[in-house]
Amino acid sequence: KPAAKKDENVKGETKLGMSAKKEDNIAEWYQQVITKAEMIEYYDVSGCYIIRPWAFEVWEMIRSWFGSRIKDSGVEDCYFPMFVSKTVLEREKDHVEGFAPEVAWVTKAGDNDLEVPVALRPTSETVMYPYYAKWIRSHRDLPLRLNQWCNVVRWEFSHPTPFIRTREFLWQEGHSAYATQKEADDEVREILRLYAGVYEELLAVPVVQGIKTEKEKFAGGDYTTTVEAFIAAVGRGCQGATSHCLGQNFGKMFHIEFEDPSKNDGSKLIPVQNSWGLTTRTIGVMTMVHGDNIGVVMPPRVSAVQIVIVPVGVTAKTTDEQRKALMDACTQLANELKAAGFRAKADLRDNYSPGWRFNHWEVKGVPIRIELGPKELEAKTLALSIRHDSSKQSIAWDANLKSSFATALDDIHNAMFNKAKAQRLDQTKQLTNWEDFTPALNNKCIVLAPWCGDRKCEDNIKKVSAEESKALVADVKEDERAPSMGAKSLCIPFDQPALAEGVKCICKGCTNNAAKWVLFGRSY
Ligand code: AMP
Repeated sequence: KPAAKKDENVKGETKLGMSAKKEDNIAEWYQQVITKAEMIEYYDVSGCYIIRPWAFEVWEMIRSWFGSRIKDSGVEDCYFPMFVSKTVLEREKDHVEGFAPEVAWVTKAGDNDLEVPVALRPTSETVMYPYYAKWIRSHRDLPLRLNQWCNVVRWEFSHPTPFIRTREFLWQEGHSAYATQKEADDEVREILRLYAGVYEELLAVPVVQGIKTEKEKFAGGDYTTTVEAFIAAVGRGCQGATSHCLGQNFGKMFHIEFEDPSKNDGSKLIPVQNSWGLTTRTIGVMTMVHGDNIGVVMPPRVSAVQIVIVPVGVTAKTTDEQRKALMDACTQLANELKAAGFRAKADLRDNYSPGWRFNHWEVKGVPIRIELGPKELEAKTLALSIRHDSSKQSIAWDANLKSSFATALDDIHNAMFNKAKAQRLDQTKQLTNWEDFTPALNNKCIVLAPWCGDRKCEDNIKKVSAEESKALVADVKEDERAPSMGAKSLCIPFDQPALAEGVKCICKGCTNNAAKWVLFGRSY
């Protein structure tokens, strides 16, 4: 690597700088941010991407947080094959209809056609449940709660976006079987709360918890619960993760049965099943929500490096001895921070100027940068630059190091969460008149609106909002697909405002009374 020239540290003049603006062109901005921060490398199979260590570490932290919690609650990890035969895949009709267009098939081995083509799992209900039928005999075998961390393949045709919508993605999929509906319902909600925890407690991304409409629910399931995130820069929702109750539909198709413990005549019951999944989409949502025009902004709890230390103040007059003392102090500080449980790093690369290194870690979004120079060393104070709001802070390098940094990182997390939440609240409109609906969408808002519960109205809301948008927004370059995109129902939030008597469905021309408040919006 060539030594960086001193004046190369001005942002925009180095190769590291971002040129696209989030508010002008989010698609271009996103592409720059994830490549420049070394999260993603593009790959020559469309819809597939290389997840680089800076992003993969985030996934590992999500995995460790969520994985340990489900294990504590009694879920066991396992691994099933990635291939599924046609007969098994097609056993549950609604399910296969939902997934068929996206299923990728292996039809050849070398030059030879396979006698029986096999599919790559788009999800593993059909892969696992024949074995659930084998393993579940009595109520004593219940609940059966298995999880796997794996990849799945969905040959998506809508525009691929790294992390958010990819053809191969990483996820965990949990699959459980219970003797009673109540236990299954409880688990659906328990898992959804953990998903909300991943977003809110780890990624500092607020989510709305709710239930999907029949139209948007998981193919073949009874009902789907969801955590919905919001990308304020474009005013679009994004389905963060889903926890489904499958009811007995799969149990019937796969002959999963257990002996009725209340009877002695060998009669059988079908267990109630759930499945739930969280994917690498999380990383994309985190990036879109927090990133700015400098680069990624990492939430502290998932950042592979939380605190970076860069030595400063070395001049031509600095002696070798002074220089060495400074480098040693940086290493010592990093070691002290690591010993206190933080992910800290001293960046001592002297082939890059301090400015270049500042920029490098800013683009990657490291929450705290410490500039350590001879002055700070003497005063035993640390000069902190806080990434998310560019503020400065000073902390004493003393025995309270651990609590000072724990507080600083928690403050950063909370501030990032609160900012994102305030943006979402600001861009959520509670409306009752159709006339206000499409203008709100075009104003980068999502809409909480009364709905009668009829699927036709849900379809109509999407159709009419798309038509009106096209007419209203003639020439929008940013996020090309959005303006013509209608609003779909994101979820029916669990947290429902009071619905006044006689409030009508928002759908244009519908005269039915509303049944629920529904969150509508454009979505990723
Ligand atoms: P599903 O099993 O279909 O409910 O999917 C589980 C979760 O995966 C969804 O809630 C989305 O958050 C996420 N997801 C769906 N499709 C993709 C995709 N193509 N790429 C990344 N994540 C996805």
